[in-house]
Amino acid sequence: MNSKDIRQKELEYAQSLSASMLAWEESQKRKLAEILKRKGIILTKDNIPTIVHATTFEQICSPENSTYCPLYLKQERCHPQLLELNCFLCNCPNYDAKYIEEQEENTLVGKCTIQSKGGHYHFSSLYPRVGVWSCEQCPTHHSKTFLAEYLKKTLPKSI
Ligand code: SF4
Repeated sequence: MNSKDIRQKELEYAQSLSASMLAWEESQKRKLAEILKRKGIILTKDNIPTIVHATTFEQICSPENSTYCPLYLKQERCHPQLLELNCFLCNCPNYDAKYIEEQEENTLVGKCTIQSKGGHYHFSSLYPRVGVWSCEQCPTHHSKTFLAEYLKKTLPKSI
């Protein structure tokens, strides 16, 4: 394969990663809405304290919700270091999964729109020049304060 073909393969791989992440984000939103609906919780501003409480790790972690997070089956936290872990924003609203940048050497997929120092680009052995933005070490979106602010900005007052 010549270098142009390799770049094309890398770009296709980056595009497939971006599409998978976007599909995963939508799927997570749907699953969470179903969990809250089962609990009779409506997604409105009036319900913010109830929503925040119901989505703390302690409240939501159960085998019946494991399609949302498989770690619930083992009662494990995705960020073991966080004492306060809220699961509502499994996918961070600051993550731009549509972003793809072809640089001279590398192709980057995903980015943090607030340029947090908590994330980094992860390069796999399969495509070592394709970097995917990873938020592994960033706690931002799991705090109740961040979530409450986010819900205030995004939810309707009532339905
Ligand atoms: S690095 Fe942090 S703030 Fe940025 S997208 Fe990832 S989780 Fe969100």
